[in-house]
Amino acid sequence: MKLSMWTYEGPPHVGAMRIAASMQGVHYVLHAPQGDTYADLLFTMIERRPSRPPVTYTTFQARDLAGSTADVFKNACREAVARFKPDALLVGASCTAELLQDDPGGLARTLDVPVPVVPLELPSYQKKENWGAAETFYRLVRAFVGRSPRPENIPANSCNILGPTSLGFRCRDDVTEIVRLLTDEGLDVRVVAPLGATPADLARLPEAAFNIVLYPEIADVTARWLKTAHGMPFVSTIPIGVGATEQFLAEVRALAGLPVREGLRRDRLTWYSRSIDSNYLTNKRVFIFGDATHAIAAARIASEELGFRVCGLGTYMREFARDVRDAAAKYGVEALISDDHLEVEAAIVAARPELVLGTQMERHIAKRLRVPCAVISAPTHVQDFPARYSPQMGFEGANVIFDSWVHPLMMGLEEHLLQMFRDDFEFNDGAAASHLHPQAPKPAAAPVETAPAGVIATWTLEAERELQKVPFFVRGKARRNTELFAQGKGIHPITVETLYDAKAHFAR
Ligand code: SF4
Repeated sequence: MKLSMWTYEGPPHVGAMRIAASMQGVHYVLHAPQGDTYADLLFTMIERRPSRPPVTYTTFQARDLAGSTADVFKNACREAVARFKPDALLVGASCTAELLQDDPGGLARTLDVPVPVVPLELPSYQKKENWGAAETFYRLVRAFVGRSPRPENIPANSCNILGPTSLGFRCRDDVTEIVRLLTDEGLDVRVVAPLGATPADLARLPEAAFNIVLYPEIADVTARWLKTAHGMPFVSTIPIGVGATEQFLAEVRALAGLPVREGLRRDRLTWYSRSIDSNYLTNKRVFIFGDATHAIAAARIASEELGFRVCGLGTYMREFARDVRDAAAKYGVEALISDDHLEVEAAIVAARPELVLGTQMERHIAKRLRVPCAVISAPTHVQDFPARYSPQMGFEGANVIFDSWVHPLMMGLEEHLLQMFRDDFEFNDGAAASHLHPQAPKPAAAPVETAPAGVIATWTLEAERELQKVPFFVRGKARRNTELFAQGKGIHPITVETLYDAKAHFAR
């Protein structure tokens, strides 16, 4: 048992639903208790799709347990095929149905439905949503690609894009951006999957020269299998950020046998971040948390393209822990691999960031701590499925990223005014950045960081006043460090001098 209030990922059958909902002609029969239809709302409300996801739930109730839930499942399959006439039927169980051990795959084999059935084995008590999505995509591709050899004379510039899904973070616009970039380069994009693909499209995957994996969480396993089974190489650099997009294009050109093209930067991030107005961004401490792909990409942009200092990096995806650890080592921080939001909150408090880049969970944490925050990864609220064009990938994605990361920060001039005139009725510590929601209620007070138990710290009036000059987002830490320092040296009460001695001590 684990006490959980927030979870970063849903159960694996939600991942399977995401694949079914991404594709055309696929229907998913989910053996699940009454009430599991809540998952529909993820698609119809958060993603705001205009139709129900292609999922039939068996919705068994307590009284069904006295009879045959296996029959309930088989009837649901027959009815779904008759009504929706899919090209492929996915069958699987949710967490509760897994305990019944009805074996949807075995039951589906005994049916005489006239469509290919792809059974899913998703261990709900060990695995989570992204794993479920990756496994479902892999099973579908294996079912439809077959083992026959690839056609001869495949043009070198043909490729597939693998990984974008329904409910993926900005997948819709990332696909548009990357397809446009590749087409400009002279690439022929054959199949994008699973988003928008049919089972027949999956069967055509081996007809391209190589694959491009945009979201490893979803498509890494499939791309590796296509490489082993059909000798298809794949590009795994994720084009989020200007440098990464350049590197991605270089890799694609090399695989496609296209000539090298230099100096084609089409982003505004590079100039914007070099302009004098961005000087005050230099060395801002940033804490990054999210899925592995977006967290690693964000750390690279923050450090190499915006001049921030990465003071924390982590992911909730244990499957990609090694990649995140390798990335964290580059920035001299220890990776946080955890799906416990309380651990993430403790790490954020300890790292004292001036900006948090994370999921909707970190947005809540940052709000409580009064630290600016931008969302870079799923899970997200409905705001992160915007109506406007908002990719994260490619050059336009870099423009979007520059705007959305800088926006929550206090603007340079205001930051200076705050330091100089902290008693101003409008520009004071308690006020949020004035370009953000002027009518919004005052933010909650920052958590008070007190000295550890046993430390009784008294501050002189002057020392307290001096402490108030420390910017509000690091003041708690400064207080705590000073009290620890004073305790170690047996200093009582804490004076202005102690404050500066402690600062010098911890700066060493
Ligand atoms: S079966 Fe799983 S997803 Fe459905 S209500 Fe129970 S725990 Fe939640």
